[in-house]
Amino acid sequence: MADKILIVEDEVRIARTLRLYLEQAGFSVTAVHDGLHALPAFRQERPSLVLLDLNLPGLDGLDVCRTLRREGNVPIIMVTARTEEMDRLIGLELGADDYVVKPFSPREVVARIRAVLRRTQGATSTADTVRAGDLLLDLAGRRAWLGDHLLLLTQSEFEILAVLVQHKERVLSRAQLLEAAQGIAHEEFARTIDQHIKNLRRKMKDAVGDVPIIQTIYGVGYRLDEVVLSP
Ligand code: CA
Repeated sequence: MADKILIVEDEVRIARTLRLYLEQAGFSVTAVHDGLHALPAFRQERPSLVLLDLNLPGLDGLDVCRTLRREGNVPIIMVTARTEEMDRLIGLELGADDYVVKPFSPREVVARIRAVLRRTQGATSTADTVRAGDLLLDLAGRRAWLGDHLLLLTQSEFEILAVLVQHKERVLSRAQLLEAAQGIAHEEFARTIDQHIKNLRRKMKDAVGDVPIIQTIYGVGYRLDEVVLSP
């Protein structure tokens, strides 16, 4: 069955172009043109991914994103006019999986949607758990426990953590993290990797306090070692 994409975009011309390209790429598409209609459309259509414009009339993209996150972990790609804006917003733990900056090429958007879907759906068939000491990941159920704490992670955060655990005690570059997560390497996503790592660290710290779990290897990338929580 075709993956369903929900487009939330007030510029009707852009929404129409995206729909055209996405349908040609084999997706099924629903589009709404303001924030207020986003949630009802989401609940009715249950899309595989939401492409969400930041600046919307009614309810802005930020509020829509927060509301969607309360409903579950559907992959979200934010659309914005400015890169700096997005760096700040991802920092606000929005939980978006990726973002694209206007003006964009529709082909690029299709490629990014495919990459996020591969990343978020790719691991579901490996019915197994992986462990790094006190950190346990259920790859089939897509749940992560740190000691007794269930971590509430977005799909991208889970995917990146899974790659780190599967290659524990090895340094992974951002490019390797991208590749292992089957994403498409591009500069903006490399920056979002850093942000996802930051969010992961904060969630782990909230759960168990200041235990160093993901190491930054300056100039190279990241490494995760065996996790040992003090009793
Ligand atoms: Ca807009």
